This record gives sequence, structure tokens and C-alpha cells, in this order.
Amino acid sequence: MTLPLYAIEDLSRVNRRTFLAVTNSLFAAALWAPRAMGAVLKRPTFSADPFQLGVASGDPAPDGVVLWTRLAPKPLEGGGAPDEPIEVTWQVAEDEQMTKVVQKGTTTANPQWAHSVHVEVNGLKPDRWYFYQFQAGDAVSPKGRTRTTPAADTMPERLRMAFASCQQFESGYFTAYEHMAKDDLDLVLHLGDYIYEGAARPGGVRKHVGPRLATLEDYRNRHAQYKTDAALQAMHAAVPWVVTWDDHEVANNYADLISENPKDTVEEFRQRRAAAYKAYYEHMPLRRAALPQGPDMLLYRKIAYGQLADILNLDTRQYRTDQPCGDGVVAPCEAVFDPNATILGETQRKWMFDTLSASKAKWNVMAQQVMVAKVDLKLGEEVGYSMDKWTGYEADRRATLKFLHDRKITNPVVLTGDIHTNWANELIADFDNLDSAVVAAEFVGTSITSGGDGLDEPRDLSARLAENPCVKFCNSKRGYVRCDIKKDEWRTDFQTVDYVSRKDAPVQTRASFVLQSGSSKLNKA
Ligand code: FE
Ligand code: CA
Repeated sequence: MTLPLYAIEDLSRVNRRTFLAVTNSLFAAALWAPRAMGAVLKRPTFSADPFQLGVASGDPAPDGVVLWTRLAPKPLEGGGAPDEPIEVTWQVAEDEQMTKVVQKGTTTANPQWAHSVHVEVNGLKPDRWYFYQFQAGDAVSPKGRTRTTPAADTMPERLRMAFASCQQFESGYFTAYEHMAKDDLDLVLHLGDYIYEGAARPGGVRKHVGPRLATLEDYRNRHAQYKTDAALQAMHAAVPWVVTWDDHEVANNYADLISENPKDTVEEFRQRRAAAYKAYYEHMPLRRAALPQGPDMLLYRKIAYGQLADILNLDTRQYRTDQPCGDGVVAPCEAVFDPNATILGETQRKWMFDTLSASKAKWNVMAQQVMVAKVDLKLGEEVGYSMDKWTGYEADRRATLKFLHDRKITNPVVLTGDIHTNWANELIADFDNLDSAVVAAEFVGTSITSGGDGLDEPRDLSARLAENPCVKFCNSKRGYVRCDIKKDEWRTDFQTVDYVSRKDAPVQTRASFVLQSGSSKLNKA
């Protein structure tokens, strides 16, 4: 099908809200266009389909959402679109056939932003499904479906969402997303490790293109390679996503501007982080508020779902101090308790506390990267805590749990990625006193693929659980986590696939937990 190309003369026929949206996108285009508006290529020709990376939407609000695509006829070789600003038209409709168009406009895909397109649509109705599509020249994108959030003052009946993390492309197929797509969800959260930075390695089911990532071009090609995955693309096209990153979007276990590799200077790493953050922005449905400025990018933000849930998306990488005690899983050294050490950074922590204090939501969700529960990872007498997780940053970990407890924050739920295993944890106010109050629930989601097929049970599971009574469930198959959230009850289903080394693995629900509003105790369902 062909979309009518949007002409500015048509403005007399559209309502004021559309006019504002169009004016905004023209303003944005003017800001980013390197030359006069007249130089924008309106009739581009492409060497191949420019929409091979699909479409996505994200960061929904009651009146709008971000629509994303990127023109990339040669996705693995720098993109391949003409090296000029290119006009892209977009439409939002109430129906999948795109006959009841409610918004449309024109934007510019600029070469300095890898011909990515981020349209912030507004003027939509709350709590509704919409469909959208892009066109550049004669090329028409696949259709996407998205949904606005409920109005701020309403109590929606339910929110169905899933969260995912850690999708090492070489380790397996993204079958988990094929099952997720059948789940009738409103929202997907991605908690990081959307890409991995390593060069191709032998033995995987697929191969990374390019070297170990360092330059902007490297990061762009890697993001593009991941986005060519059909299951990932279909899930992006099905519902809005809210994304945050962990370490592998840049490099393993980095902390602020400190690389894991002591040979990397801060200046080298600053440039690498700037390249990685820019490529991340270019490939994600993010608002202009997240536009990177050199090596900095504002990713922590709140998504509200009426009065049912506030979802705080945290960034535990960009502002943290270096991992203490040499990183790794070790007995805590003094630096773990340094009051100046931080995993959130002072500004983000204040924002989190202020946002939680002001919340009127029934469920207060902290969607983030690394495990908060204090879990002893060494069997027997010896103790070992991960220095890359909240257990390496005792000041922030204790202050956060104390804050949730003292301020009686309503139904806090922490969602976590990173460790390629499923966990259900009760977070207690003081881990030195195992009888202290349970102040929050933590659900840790396994990987989409990272680590390969996985095990039914982690090694020495029962001994580990006995040493860590706050842990109610642990499993190391691949998959995703599904949450069904209602006013009085939260249900979590740990969905696992039997394997990722071959296609078409079946899915099963490995465990389910229910939280009743008013208590953070986990009930096995
Ligand atoms: Fe990971
Ligand atoms: Ca131990």
C-alpha cells in the first residue's frame, strides 16, 4: 500500500493538535537539519528496502507515544541510505487498515543521527490502541501497533506487561519474544544488555558482525544486526517498550567513565561511551529528553499507568562509582561501606526518593539492572557478594530499603535483569537482621538468550536457598517475566523456554508468585 505524501498545504484540513504536532516536528527537523529545509530529500531512492529494521514505539503517555524507525537499506554496513537529510512521513490511525487516520506528519531522518526517526506524537486519546506507519519516497514501513497509557486520575483495571533483558545474539534464538507476542500485553520493559559488545566468537548459533565495539559505526552496525531479528522486531511492532540499559550496551561492567580494562584511559572510555550512547538513542523509541550530549544521556524517567502503577526506570551504570574490592564475587572489603560510594548517583537517588514520595500509585515499580537482594553467592562458611550489584554499594542499598520502609512507600516492586537467572526475592529492611520487615518484592528476570540453553536448576540450589532465606525461587532457564497488575493483586509468571540453541522451543510457566496489596511477602501461586 502507499501512503499519501503529507503536504504542508494540507494544514487547513487538520485540527489544531495535529498542527501543533506537525509544527513541533518541523521545528525539530529544522534544529537537526544541517542545511536549509529545501535541501531535504523528498523523493529518495534506496538500494534496498530502507525499513529492514522494523518499527517501534515507546515511552507512552496518556496523550501520545514515541514512534521510531531508521532508514537502513544496508543495515550491517553503516545503513546505506543516501548521505543527506531525508523526508519521512508518518501516520497514526485507529484501525490496522490505516483508514481512520488521527495524526500524520513529516519529519526528517538525518545522516548524523544514522537516519533514525523519533516522532513524539501527541493529541491522542488515553488508554487506546493505535496503529502507525512510515513512508520514505516510495518505500512504506511495516505497520506497528501501540497504546497510550490511562489518564493520570484514573484507576485502570489492569496492566499486563513483560520484562526482558540480556539478549546475546550469538547464544541463541529470541524465541522468548515469539511467546511474549502471544501474551496480550500492554507494555514491555527492557532492563538492559539489549546488545553485547564482543567480536564474533566461535560456537554460537549466529555470529556478531564487526570487531569488539569501539566506534560509532561499530555500535550502529551491532544495534542494526540485533534489530534484524524477526521475533524482536515483531515484539517491538506489537506494543510500546520502555527501555533502559545495563553494561553491555557499552562494555562489560563499566562504571561511569571507568572501563573494566585498566588499560583504557578515562578519555578513551568517554569517547567510547559517547559512541555507544548515541547509537543506543538512534535505535530506541526514546523521547528528545533522552537525546545524548556527548558521553551523557538522561535515561532515568517515570512512566505512569494511571493511578495503578508508577514505573521508575533507573540507570545504575552511568553515575555509579567504581566497583569496590576489585569487582567480582568477594567478601566485602571496607570500600563496600564507603558512604560516598553510589550506584545511582546523588541526583538520580534524590529524584527516585522525591518521585516515590510524591507517588499516588498503587504499585511503585523500580525497573533497573542489577540485583538488590543481599545474596551470599559462596556456599558454606565463606561469604561472597557481587561487587557489581547493589551489594557492592551498601550505602545506596541500605538507604533505599530504609527509605521504602520509613516512608511507607506503597507496594514497592523491584524488577531486575543482568544475571541470566530467575529469582523471586523478599527485600527486608535490614539484611543483618533476617527477621526485619519485608519492605519490597524483587523479581529478577532471566536472559532472553545469554548463557545458552541454561539449566533446570542452578547448581547447589537447595544449599543456596538455605543460606539466603529471602530468596523464594531461583531458576536458570532462558525466557522472560510476565506481570499481571491489578489494584489489589500483582501476579508474576516466570516464563521459560526449553532451549535457545534451536528454533521453536515451547514455553512454560516455571513459577508464579502473587503479591497482595499492602504486603511485600511473596505467595507462591
Ligand atoms: Fe547480560
Ligand atoms: Ca556462604
